[in-house]
Amino acid sequence: MDTVKTGVAIVGYGGMGGWHVKKLSTMEEGEICGIYDILPLRRKAAQQEGLHAYDTLGELFADPGVEVVTLAVPNDCHKDLAIAAMRAGKNVVCEKPVALSSVELQEIFDVSEETGMLFTVHQNRRWDEDYLTLKKIYENGTLGRVFSIESRVQGSRGIPGDWRNTKEHGGGMVLDWGVHLLDQILMMIREPIESVFAQLTYVTNEAVDDGFKILLRFAPKEGEEEGLCVHVEVGTSNFISLPRWYILGENGSAVIDNWKVDGKIVMVSDWEKRDAVPVVTAAGLTKTMAPRTSETVKEYPLPVVHSDVREFYRNVFKAIRGEEESLIKHEEVMRVMRLMEAVFQSAYTNQAVKLRI
Ligand code: NAD
Repeated sequence: MDTVKTGVAIVGYGGMGGWHVKKLSTMEEGEICGIYDILPLRRKAAQQEGLHAYDTLGELFADPGVEVVTLAVPNDCHKDLAIAAMRAGKNVVCEKPVALSSVELQEIFDVSEETGMLFTVHQNRRWDEDYLTLKKIYENGTLGRVFSIESRVQGSRGIPGDWRNTKEHGGGMVLDWGVHLLDQILMMIREPIESVFAQLTYVTNEAVDDGFKILLRFAPKEGEEEGLCVHVEVGTSNFISLPRWYILGENGSAVIDNWKVDGKIVMVSDWEKRDAVPVVTAAGLTKTMAPRTSETVKEYPLPVVHSDVREFYRNVFKAIRGEEESLIKHEEVMRVMRLMEAVFQSAYTNQAVKLRI
């Protein structure tokens, strides 16, 4: 039986527009109808690569072959284009962050509801293998009760000097990377968040944040007294990077160094054995911080999870035919948006924000 092909058009043919084209071109379930970019130069580039380029957005919306419109334009353009596409009878895949506020986001969801068109968000980092591996360690309970998770993404090139550098286009690292990292955490931890404390950095520019540190406190799990503490951090002036993930449980710790999923798990094998030989430092002595000997701990490899990010589009195509529920749910996207708003509030007031989401 021939596979049903879903027609997709991409609006915005920059970095991410190109990525969507590349991924879709490897999928037999999808067919790229063409692209539209506001810049003639980008339309020409697409044509030179053998793609169809629509001359206007109206032409793209009028193409009956287009069932899905993917929006890969700067963040401030998402809302108007998403609403226009849905009103033109198209399903929409929107790049993250969808909107610059929860009010704008709700407007988009309302139009999806009203028109019956699917509106979903490209939260592709739910398929990152480092994240899926960490999630497996957390969900397996391998480490015993987990009390701390640290998630970091660090580079040293500053914030890109394009629209990401400006507030009016929805720039800044909270909206750019925070939206991914917070979404990952919220998809993994089922308890509600009780408080958030955040600090933003402005090392390479003044207009938008070029990094952040966010501390989340979750409600305790049933039967437990203390909730999980999660640290989420992005830096763009880090010439030495810390590991991508660091997770602590009562019986062990795990580290995931990078996106290639290098790292290890270290578990206690004998709590009772008193093997601590005091460490003598230049100015003192400590038994508490003495490293463990190999007799009381055991090292394990990471349970690496592999993934295929094309599952995202496969789900979109099935969801528009009513064969599957959309994997990225509106309430999940809204929860992350509300959390980002609390992050800004905390950073601007230098206070922890209490909330329950
Ligand atoms: P980019 O600047 O490389 O490309 C944006 C393109 O949109 C440009 O070619 C520009 O000419 C075009 N454009 C601007 N306004 C337009 C309009 N009104 N109509 C049509 N075209 C328009 O930016 P990018 O890095 O590709 O980012 C685009 C979107 O993708 C952003 O929302 C960004 O946050 C997101 N993004 C997502 C990921 C991810 O992993 N999910 C990664 C990078 C970027």
